[in-house]
Amino acid sequence: MIKKKEKKLTKIKYLYDNREYIILNKCPHCNLDIHPTLENTHHFENKNFHIHALSFVCPSCRKDYFVINHSEKLSNAQNQYILTIPEYTFRNETLIQNTSKKFQNLYTQSVQADLHGHDDLAFFGYIKSLEVLVKDIAIIEHPDSEDTVLFSSLIQCLEKFHSTNIHLFSKKLLEVLKNDYLHYQKGPEFSTFTELVKDCIEYFILYLELLQKTFSLNDKQSGNWK
Ligand SMILES: [Zn+2]
Repeated sequence: MIKKKEKKLTKIKYLYDNREYIILNKCPHCNLDIHPTLENTHHFENKNFHIHALSFVCPSCRKDYFVINHSEKLSNAQNQYILTIPEYTFRNETLIQNTSKKFQNLYTQSVQADLHGHDDLAFFGYIKSLEVLVKDIAIIEHPDSEDTVLFSSLIQCLEKFHSTNIHLFSKKLLEVLKNDYLHYQKGPEFSTFTELVKDCIEYFILYLELLQKTFSLNDKQSGNWK
């Protein structure tokens, strides 16, 4: 059976002592969606900034981690997320483990850029991650066409090797993928483009899972498993 869709990694608010902190919704060790237990807080400050280091323990795997926030001191500004120690990886996420190391590398870096608010790098990182994923899948399905796949652009690869999938794409997503340069003109809609590309990556990760199940089923039918 296909694994149930895993919840996206996202920033959430954590209320403690009448103050809102920004943390991730998943444990950086076991990747489970958790509500962590705050063990300790540490604060550092100078004339301008306030640094908040929160020490959490995961209720599931019982491992400790830190989340660092900062805020400007002289205003009532909200806390901003800086980082989680250790950094979040997809080491224990089964669906991501099905993908190539090349994809995992690029995708993890894109997610880190996204979490740190480097929106431009995140957008291009996600587009390139999608390209690697789509090409990896096309090569699994069409091993004889590896050279054609590798030398095609993302959209050429989608049109030639994923024509059934591409019919499911929204008009907006196709526009973003076909004209990633033209669409890269930051406006209020920019973040929705990034979200569309992220959804598309998730779709192909699930598709890859289905494909791998189908392959192992065929192997069993043809007796290769014996
Ligand atoms: Zn955990």
